[in-house]
Amino acid sequence: MSGIVIAGAGQAGCHAAASLREAGYAGPVTLVGEEPYGPYQRPPLSKAYLAGKTDAAGLALRADAFFSEHAIALRLGTRVSAIDRAGRAVVLGDGERLPYDHLVLALGARNRPLPVPGAELAGIRQLRGLADADALKEALSGAARVAVVGAGFIGLEFAAVAAARGLDVAVVEAASRPMARAVSAETGEFFRAAHESAGIRFLFGAGVAAFEGRDGRVSALRLADGSALPADLVVVGIGVLPNAELAAEAGLAVGDGIRVDAMLATDDPAVSAIGDGARFPSPFAAGLSADGTVRIESVQNAIDQGRCLAARLTGRPAAYTALPWFWSDQGRHKLQIAGLGGPNDASVIRGSGEAFSVFRFREGVLRAVESVNQAGDHMIARRLIAAGTPLSPEQAADPSLDLKALVLRPR
Ligand code: FAD
Repeated sequence: MSGIVIAGAGQAGCHAAASLREAGYAGPVTLVGEEPYGPYQRPPLSKAYLAGKTDAAGLALRADAFFSEHAIALRLGTRVSAIDRAGRAVVLGDGERLPYDHLVLALGARNRPLPVPGAELAGIRQLRGLADADALKEALSGAARVAVVGAGFIGLEFAAVAAARGLDVAVVEAASRPMARAVSAETGEFFRAAHESAGIRFLFGAGVAAFEGRDGRVSALRLADGSALPADLVVVGIGVLPNAELAAEAGLAVGDGIRVDAMLATDDPAVSAIGDGARFPSPFAAGLSADGTVRIESVQNAIDQGRCLAARLTGRPAAYTALPWFWSDQGRHKLQIAGLGGPNDASVIRGSGEAFSVFRFREGVLRAVESVNQAGDHMIARRLIAAGTPLSPEQAADPSLDLKALVLRPR
């Protein structure tokens, strides 16, 4: 028996391995990860870890002993370089073949590069893994003027940490508002104002044409309008690309991620894909993509897909229908999102000032709720959306309506 090989020892891969054991799988489980460290959490890299409030030990997803106690073979610092589907084996970086009965692709995603002149200059960085965070931490201590390219979650979290250290921070963003792809205009506007009041400058509708440098180090960004933005540290956070090449080379279906069905299986029944790198059909994607599939980059998705897959591989198959949810900590503000919002959703706001929620409706149905410093709303929203509890925009707009009662009321 070859057992289950999990390629990628990140959030999804680690959770799949642990869930297999929890579900009673007794065969061999091998977790292969190219990074040199045991599985760790990425979210603190742009938050508490970067701010020096937690150390590397605090990032570990499991204690070292967990893997040996649960007979999970960890192959760290090891890259999977090919999949031999006919031979049911993966080929490792050094040529070793690792046979499998079932292969789980949990390869995550990598940062999208910004291919403009000067991109190779020292001082231009990205943030995806622990090594990036360590390098950034060090760079921050010697930096004075910081530029962030991309006003997405990670760019803004990083910008908030840098501004809190008293550095001069500018954020360059092609869209007209922060987190434009992910959140409503209302939430984006709140965070714009919050970051500006912390001293961060935004340049919206701006593109980077080139990086300029002195002695091999970045000194400025040349923007598309010809202006120069001086910076001695640049963080590029313009989204990710799913690690789908291995799957494509092995003849599996890909297209913005490794394509899987509702059971998280690829078109080869012996290969599944989970986490940031997988594109799957979601009951929460109505009106978001032509084929009803999504690819989600979140801890919730990585964990729940690991669990769902482990259940299938141990004889309890079920479609993946977990409600997507997400959080982001930016400065002193916490954003929590339940469900999947879309660009044309109608917004209804409950609450005001620094504590509010934006209820987002598509085709009259509640699809997502963004809660800013409103953890209670977030927990209720998760239950409302997951259960499909009917809620009209008018009801959501009524401050006297007790949402908790709606959740508790039997239907
Ligand atoms: P990953 O955790 O990226 O793991 C994939 C692993 O596969 C990596 O270790 C990679 O090195 C390895 N790998 C890739 N190719 C190979 C190969 N060929 N062979 C062997 N190994 C390989 N999500 C939230 O919900 N909330 C947050 O606040 C939040 N903050 C984040 C902050 C940062 C800085 C980052 C980077 C991400 C954040 N996320 C957050 C997203 C979350 O961390 C990811 O969604 C989650 O880690 C996805 O898990 P994964 O296992 O799919 O991918």
